Amino acid sequence: MRQELLAWFAQEGLLLQNITTGSEDPEHDEVKVIVRAPIVALGHGREDFRECPDPVAFGYPESCLELMTLDDFHWFILRWFEGAVAAGRARCFVCNKVLDNTSGHPWDAVFVSADWHCWLVVHFDCKRYLGRDLKGRNPFEVELREPEMFDLRLTESEGQ
Ligand SMILES: [Zn+2]
Repeated sequence: MRQELLAWFAQEGLLLQNITTGSEDPEHDEVKVIVRAPIVALGHGREDFRECPDPVAFGYPESCLELMTLDDFHWFILRWFEGAVAAGRARCFVCNKVLDNTSGHPWDAVFVSADWHCWLVVHFDCKRYLGRDLKGRNPFEVELREPEMFDLRLTESEGQ
């Protein structure tokens, strides 16, 4: 992840820290601090977690982060998820069904800010079970992959 993006998340207060101490060997007691930026989830399976996409990789100008608010970033992530749904690659975090825009089961992108700092997608009808499905899981245990380069069509709906 680019330093600029990491710094932007820090500025927004969105970095997670995990502090562990190597207590097994008291002679060499070391404190390990792992810092993690928010992540995105295309589903709740082991292979579904991604590093946060970088707007610059999707055609935003290099300096875009200076101007972006958190709302702008939510919007960008929503576009990324729309690309994922259009590609048939996004699953509901709760029921694990592939999301689409035609089956009459609307979905929403949610940013989980408590403990996780993770964007995920879920059916409207499944949202109420989200808390249950996040419980007992640790964001530092999930394996992250590179985010897919979905086609975001960023300029189409802006109308300017
Ligand atoms: Zn669902």
